[in-house]
Amino acid sequence: MTAKQVARVAVAAPLGKLLSYAIPPQLAGRARVGVRLKVPLGRRPVVGYLLELDEAADVQGLKPVTEVLDDQPLFPKHLVAFYLRAADYYRHPPGEVIRTALPAGLAGGKGGVGILREKVYRPTTLQDEPKGTRQREILDWVRQEGPLALGALRERFPSPYGPLARLVELGFLSEEEQERRRDPFLDLAPPEDRPVEATPEQQAALESLGEALLGGEFAPFLLHGVTGSGKTEIYLRAIDQAIGQGRQALVLVPEISLTPQLVGRFRARFASLARIAVLHSGLSDGERYDAWRSIAAGEVDIVIGARSAVFAPLDRLGILVVDEEHEASYKQAEGFRYHARDLALMRGQMEQAVVLMGSATPALTTYYRSREGLIGYLPLTGRALDRPLPDVTLVDLTEAAPEGVLSESLAAALVQNLERGEQSVLLLNRRGFAPFLLCADCGETFRCPNCEITLTYYQGRRMLRCHYCDYAVQPPELCPSCRSDRIEPEGAGTERLEEELSALLPDARIARMDRDTTARKGAHQKLVEAMESRRIDILVGTQMVAKGHDFPGVTLVGVIGADSSLNFPDFRSAERTFALLTQVAGRAGRGSRPGRVLIQTYAADHYALECAASHDYQSFYEQEIAFRRELGYPPFGFLVNLVLAGNEAAKVTDAAQALAQRLEAQAGGVEVLGPAPCPLARRMQILLKANFRPPLRRLLALLEALPKKVPSAVSLAVDVDPVDML
Ligand code: ADP
Ligand code: ZN
Ligand code: ZN
Repeated sequence: MTAKQVARVAVAAPLGKLLSYAIPPQLAGRARVGVRLKVPLGRRPVVGYLLELDEAADVQGLKPVTEVLDDQPLFPKHLVAFYLRAADYYRHPPGEVIRTALPAGLAGGKGGVGILREKVYRPTTLQDEPKGTRQREILDWVRQEGPLALGALRERFPSPYGPLARLVELGFLSEEEQERRRDPFLDLAPPEDRPVEATPEQQAALESLGEALLGGEFAPFLLHGVTGSGKTEIYLRAIDQAIGQGRQALVLVPEISLTPQLVGRFRARFASLARIAVLHSGLSDGERYDAWRSIAAGEVDIVIGARSAVFAPLDRLGILVVDEEHEASYKQAEGFRYHARDLALMRGQMEQAVVLMGSATPALTTYYRSREGLIGYLPLTGRALDRPLPDVTLVDLTEAAPEGVLSESLAAALVQNLERGEQSVLLLNRRGFAPFLLCADCGETFRCPNCEITLTYYQGRRMLRCHYCDYAVQPPELCPSCRSDRIEPEGAGTERLEEELSALLPDARIARMDRDTTARKGAHQKLVEAMESRRIDILVGTQMVAKGHDFPGVTLVGVIGADSSLNFPDFRSAERTFALLTQVAGRAGRGSRPGRVLIQTYAADHYALECAASHDYQSFYEQEIAFRRELGYPPFGFLVNLVLAGNEAAKVTDAAQALAQRLEAQAGGVEVLGPAPCPLARRMQILLKANFRPPLRRLLALLEALPKKVPSAVSLAVDVDPVDML
């Protein structure tokens, strides 16, 4: 009796284990590891991912695979172990992990995105000349240029169909169908590469990296360099070496649509040496699918992308770069709640690669590990070109609170900078005109009926909008509870700041960069270009303005309301504030003129602000790590957040309380904290905290085995290593 093939399949459903299906003989050739399948789950047909092929003497009792959905594997075999380990680490169903990993549009079966095909013509060995002039022209061109796609031919010969068909018929040309991959960069010329000589510190870092790359083993590094110290230059050179060794590179950036300049530098350096794929949210599903397939087919050397690119199907990975490794956006907040930096480390370890994490303000946990010797430490202490770091002043608002948003000193500095013809950047981490509307007579505010959080006021469009669910409504003329007409905006957002600035500096060219003004495709890029070509004097914006840009003309940075984030009930609030201030301050003085920074604050004596003002990561670290040690927070403890949600607040609360009690009874070395309400209504969270991982994992395994964890009206999400505790 011949052995039968069995497919081990992760189905795209909330199921913790793999399932086995028989592969019917007619599908045997096409059922390869890495393809999608259609399989029955109960009576329902579902999509599954083929992860292993086994042989069995007998497949009786196994349901058969119904259909194979892909001609080519979507990921190489060795990535299966990585996907499964990620699923296990985050306690998330493997099929959902892979669904998250694959490009959008592939979640379901066929349909959604498709493969584009086009006709390609090649000259045959036939030497003669055809008779018709048009035929001869076309044939000469193809003979000269090599194989040509129909699209390319049509650019030169407007309507080539007749002659082409004839040439094929006569045997001068062969015609075949080829896949056409959509490539958003095809038409863009790369910018010019500016070669530089490495500074001694860069040299030292590159030597360590070079050795590690030659060693061919897992080697994690923290590249700790202030903004403008030349980290990107190091990424470029280390990657160059990896590619020289025939290996591939993966570059993770926090939000790729916000880093066109970085992508440009990669293209400039590698345009002729390596093939680059960029995965970002601005791609259409089709473009993303094509990029993914190019990578899976081994046609790409460097992948640049945001968080989900960590799953890219590269086969010979030599180096993984995680730029701005401290960024919270590396953590996915919904569904499969993975952290891309942590998965990059996991993947680097599994694939014997170098992992290079860069930051001016490393995550406390990462820096701690480098101090413990678990991660190599590569410092860059000065800016390349010896540009000084900007001078930072804290403007203490407790002494003199401003009338509007801007303090006198910041307003004066803006006026002066404008007179000098230099550019300024203002950070106010809040969109809209005002964070809320308030009735001055009775104190009534307006909340989202879905989320219960306060609605943000937009003056330009006269709207109240929810920043979570996008619910929007016109503000009432009269207070619904006391009929007063004194409904007033409270606090300030970027829209209000922009208005105040226009009144203060009527001649200044002012622009705003936040999620409202950059929602449209290309809008962000336009603002960046306008800044670069100095068509903007003052750029106002949310934390978006703090990220990654290199505007040499900016000599003044102002920060408004930075201390509001200090008041968040999250143990990382000081770390976040410090990082944001340091990042935005780093936007000043990147060109030939020195920069200065003014930070308006009510908490001028908080160590996060003091240390940011003196560019002193070390002191910040020491104070913050002492606090973490005392309270047993990461890196001294491990956390898992259980998030319960539902449509009825009372049900959610009851379920959370019941679940917390059941866990408490079996906690064994794990603290069960809460349940506590989240600021988002109808949500509760239970925080599990332990000094070691094993007891946490044990408790999670118990949780998974619990019958009837929560009633059906309530959902339960497990967040391992939570980042956002709000
Ligand atoms: P980071 O990524 O740390 O912010 P970059 O790599 O962007 O720093 O470097 C900041 C600027 O300094 C860039 O304009 C870059 O071209 C330049 N630069 C980097 N390294 C050198 C060097 N060794 N010599 C001269 N200029 C350099
Ligand atoms: Zn009122
Ligand atoms: Zn809402």
